[in-house]
Amino acid sequence: MPVSLPDNLTFDQDGKFISLLKIPNSTNTSGWGSLLLPVIVVRNGNGPTVLFTGGNHGDEYEGPIALRKLANELKPEQIQGQVIIVPYLNYPAVLAGTRLSPVDGLNMNRSFPGSPDGSMTPMIADFVYRELVLRSDVVVDFHSGGNSMVFEPCVVIHHLEDTEQMKKTVAAAQQFGAPISLVLRELDSKGMLDTVVENCGKIFISTELGGGGCVSPRTLKIAENGIRNILQHFEILPPDNEVVPETRFMETPDIGSYIMASQEGLYETLVGLGEPVLKGQIIGRIHSLTHIDAPAVKVHSQIDGVLITRAGRASVKNWDTIAVIATDLDVSEFDVNLAV
Ligand SMILES: [Zn+2]
Repeated sequence: MPVSLPDNLTFDQDGKFISLLKIPNSTNTSGWGSLLLPVIVVRNGNGPTVLFTGGNHGDEYEGPIALRKLANELKPEQIQGQVIIVPYLNYPAVLAGTRLSPVDGLNMNRSFPGSPDGSMTPMIADFVYRELVLRSDVVVDFHSGGNSMVFEPCVVIHHLEDTEQMKKTVAAAQQFGAPISLVLRELDSKGMLDTVVENCGKIFISTELGGGGCVSPRTLKIAENGIRNILQHFEILPPDNEVVPETRFMETPDIGSYIMASQEGLYETLVGLGEPVLKGQIIGRIHSLTHIDAPAVKVHSQIDGVLITRAGRASVKNWDTIAVIATDLDVSEFDVNLAV
């Protein structure tokens, strides 16, 4: 049984519509039960459509909190255009506080474009792709590192083949106003929401706003400011000032940016997030839990740059990502017109 569209889910009428998407969820304790996933649509007249999603991974919280606030506070008369809000994209994972869905064990961000006949995660992905992504001009998907990683707060975009699409995406990332705007080439982009949106020629922005299963006042503020800045950038909200937010464009240039644990143990980080590092510098140590007299394993940076990610938990396993080093990126070639 596929997802049932609520009667009040409409994209063609002005107003604010809070709908609950009914997703069949037969369990041992609720044979004919369903999960009710909130989808909020706010529309006023003609204009661009922006889709905001949070909870793609269930252990990342700035998006769900900021979007829940937006869903409750945004009024149709404030905007020109349409705002679609899904605060808890992988709702079972958000309810469980886990990265993956406890229902089918799947990663939402490897399940797009989804399937109406699949298990719950691809079923939700299919609805989001067909009903929400295809009618949107811009998609902003909030991530925050999760339980296992912590980030210096950043917006994440990708290197795109289409120059015009890249220019618009760089301009939107700039305007979001996170401390860092990270331009990535994904090693494994299949099944990501990012990929299906970008392949439609639309503007896609993701974030990594902290992590470790926590929310801080700083990271939540970045999310809330970013939402407002994006709505102003696309002229859905009127601008309230002319200040261009500051951000530092960076990239992860090669495999040397990603540092994996060479053994399991306790990871001692020696460098703070956002701090510069030099090639060869010892940035951390792994302490064995099985050999009390074994020397700690030194972890070196492979490149000059800035530490933007570290392990979110001291206890690490072999080949966990324990550090990511980024370098500055010159985006002047994209001729970003910031006076929107
Ligand atoms: Zn995530």
